[in-house]
Amino acid sequence: MSKETLAKTIREIPDFPIPGILFYDVTTLFKNPSALQELSDTLYEMYKDKGITKVVGIESRGFIMGPILATRLGAGFVPMRKPGKLPAETIEESYDKEYGKDTVQIHKDAIEPDDVVLLHDDLLATGGTMEAACKLVKKLNPKKVYVNFIIELKELHGKDIFSKDVDVESVLTL
Ligand code: 5GP
Repeated sequence: MSKETLAKTIREIPDFPIPGILFYDVTTLFKNPSALQELSDTLYEMYKDKGITKVVGIESRGFIMGPILATRLGAGFVPMRKPGKLPAETIEESYDKEYGKDTVQIHKDAIEPDDVVLLHDDLLATGGTMEAACKLVKKLNPKKVYVNFIIELKELHGKDIFSKDVDVESVLTL
């Protein structure tokens, strides 16, 4: 399946969750068996030679391909969650959103210094969420951090926010 065909499986919802926002709905990609297989294969090809030992998924849409990719890479899976959800000791990072602040948390013992980490989420918009996720993971001193999205919205230039030592790649650029 071509990238164009894969992109066509993503449903566009105008005015969700608020008026003026065009929302890219990845559930229509996930429910399509050929598209899901293609996405899994593409992600595997992108990261199979990077020595990834942990895939970190961002709540909640990063919890879908994150574990699929982790099993294919022979890596572990780690959830990064909103505050108050993880049961053991956590560390956290807050970031500014359009209206107010948001926070992400991870278990303190989830990443070790010899880990090579792949952070995964469904979509890159402004980059605020993933930049905070990167900062949080770096507090645990992994060897290397990769960042991956299914979709990157190019007009928002979210990629520019990341520091040069982080390798940022997307499957689709819309
Ligand atoms: P950012 O922090 O880059 O501005 O926003 C990205 C976060 O918002 C991601 O966690 C992503 O899941 C969510 N998000 C923002 N817009 C969309 C969208 O159009 N579709 C989907 N699926 N997620 C979105």
